[in-house]
Amino acid sequence: MSGDIRGLIFTKLNQAIKRGKRKGYSLMIVPNKKGEIACVNIPYLIFVTFFILMGINCYYLFRYPFRISEIWGLECHIYDLRQIVSRQDKELRRLDPCLKTTQEMEDALNGANGFVVEMEQEYGKLQNQKVKTEALTYREVYLPGYQLSSTDRDISKLEVLNRNLNYLEEELALTGADLAGLVTKYKSYNRQLDFTPTIWPLARDRRISSGFGYRRHPIYKEMMLHQGIDIPTRTGTAVRATAEGKVTIAESRGGYGLLVEINHGYGFRTRYGHNSRLAVKVGQTVKKGQVIAYAGNTGTSTGPHVHYEVRLNNVPVNPRPYLN
Ligand SMILES: [Zn+2]
Repeated sequence: MSGDIRGLIFTKLNQAIKRGKRKGYSLMIVPNKKGEIACVNIPYLIFVTFFILMGINCYYLFRYPFRISEIWGLECHIYDLRQIVSRQDKELRRLDPCLKTTQEMEDALNGANGFVVEMEQEYGKLQNQKVKTEALTYREVYLPGYQLSSTDRDISKLEVLNRNLNYLEEELALTGADLAGLVTKYKSYNRQLDFTPTIWPLARDRRISSGFGYRRHPIYKEMMLHQGIDIPTRTGTAVRATAEGKVTIAESRGGYGLLVEINHGYGFRTRYGHNSRLAVKVGQTVKKGQVIAYAGNTGTSTGPHVHYEVRLNNVPVNPRPYLN
């Protein structure tokens, strides 16, 4: 059955081709003066093929102007893109110094963090605390993305810069908090210093005729603890409070003669003996350096001088280390 159908199709096709060959057109070529008229027979298939080719040609010919304008548009677009690329090139070249700046900031932050640790140690020393250096943490700032090799593409430069900036922002906040903590500590320490005896009781006299400790007493002639230091001076020399505080004694007290005692808080008290005249009253608040009395020779004394005592939690201590 299928063989018959194939044969039938073949026969039909042959007939169609023969019809096509027979069908056709004649092209007459007529000369404009003398001569014979030439007549060319053009088979139907060739005629149709010719018109199809002509049609295709016309299609491309008409499309051409549109294609040209399209190309022009694309060229303009390419030009714009080139401008953008060159602008971005410039921008990217500007990133190099930015990246360098991030490294400088890294160094600066490391410096600041080192400073924080150093100041913490100093603060510990000032507070007479035993500082465990291992307890102090030095936070090292290290930009993980900075190392940029030349093979890196520019886009990664932007990524690196972005990462660096984010990292630095976090680190800046941490270092800022550390520094703020230090400032608070030092401010309170500075306030504490106002209440700590750190200056000499006399503005100019610096000679110590008798130091702190056991000595043979110049009048009683026996070994006794000298609870302060003696600074010889002229009678009438102004005696200054060595720290801020409140006057707790301002009167004559046996061997001390005319005595002033000031309570500074933080466990500190200071005493100034043998004065000729007092300038403060009990309960009065005095500033560091304020005149509280005038030197003299009252009480158990062999000549005009200031007997200066520093008491820590009511125990007399050597005043010498407190004097600047
Ligand atoms: Zn003395």
